Amino acid sequence: MSKEEKMSRWGSEVLQAPVVADCWNRNVSAQSIVIVAHRSPDGDAVGSSLALHHHLRAMGLNSSVVLPDGFPAFFNWLPNADDIVLQDVEMERANALIAHAEVLWCLDFNGPKRAGQMEEVIRSSRAFKIVVDHHMEPELFADVLLSDPTCGSTCELIYGLIEAWYQQDSLSLETAQCLYTGMMTDTGSFRFSSVTGNTHRILGHLLDSGVNQAWIHEQVFGSNRIAKIQMQGFAMSEKLLVWPEHRTALISLTQAEMKRFDCQSGDTEGLVNQALALEGVEVAVFMKESEDGHVKMSFRSKGEYSVRDLVAEHFNGGGHRNAAGGILENTPMPVAIEFFQSLLKKWMSV
Ligand code: 5GP
Ligand code: MN
Repeated sequence: MSKEEKMSRWGSEVLQAPVVADCWNRNVSAQSIVIVAHRSPDGDAVGSSLALHHHLRAMGLNSSVVLPDGFPAFFNWLPNADDIVLQDVEMERANALIAHAEVLWCLDFNGPKRAGQMEEVIRSSRAFKIVVDHHMEPELFADVLLSDPTCGSTCELIYGLIEAWYQQDSLSLETAQCLYTGMMTDTGSFRFSSVTGNTHRILGHLLDSGVNQAWIHEQVFGSNRIAKIQMQGFAMSEKLLVWPEHRTALISLTQAEMKRFDCQSGDTEGLVNQALALEGVEVAVFMKESEDGHVKMSFRSKGEYSVRDLVAEHFNGGGHRNAAGGILENTPMPVAIEFFQSLLKKWMSV
């Protein structure tokens, strides 16, 4: 089978029935099903992994979820979040699960590099690999690639897959809660341009399945620690740079600054969107110093500006047109900011 033949797409086309059926049949006959997602897992990565885990369970199958590292505490309430094996905590167990899996679901990433320290074990695993993802330019490393970069979340794609298996009437409440969470977090609470009528049709079914959406919003967005809010206040009042002539804003935080506010996983999430929400701003960047001296960056844009192209060219990363991430290794923060500023003149003059 050629690589092209291995591909199946959503979009306006229906998932190819034989491929979809094959994916299901592989699950049924496998001794071991493992689900993995990208490093620094977000709501869509954790949500889609646990959603598939719960759906398989509802259909009488067992699976394991293995993630490269921890996720924000505001996702701890997700049903069976405790089942997740974190590779940076339990490396041997995690690697053995991936290496000996018969079916390996790779969710919400377009290439094994995005799985950080799990890259090699994912590549070398002899499992039948199935990717479900919505990032651009997927690497063709798996046996089946189910990719739709126009879709707002991997959770929405997982729902589409369940439908393609004709199992949507067997959706468990747990699956529905996990899907809702990933769809919510990857679409900025259903307000990005990736949201479609189909997104809302699916949401309707999730709510009808018993999802308490107000409660989920409260868990994820309404349970902030004071230190987190104070750090965000500090970032907005002391660490915001705006270049009105380039319609660009930047927020940066060093390790020392984050430690001062007892910064925890997920605490800086959303800062970049606050910068993007400024009047006249069409591109926003959040730069964060890592413990090992790198500068990690989150980019967001409005409309036609492709931050993915900028990141791919200059910041060793990728993502989507309006949301991308990259890194400058071994770079002091002031140097990273200066480099970014030097690019602005050329890049934001259009
Ligand atoms: P975030 O800013 O939320 O970390 O990431 C925004 C988007 O960019 C996400 O879709 C994420 O998958 C992608 N992204 C973030 N960091 C990287 C990276 O280092 N490499 C690539 N290829 N994509 C990234
Ligand atoms: Mn996603």
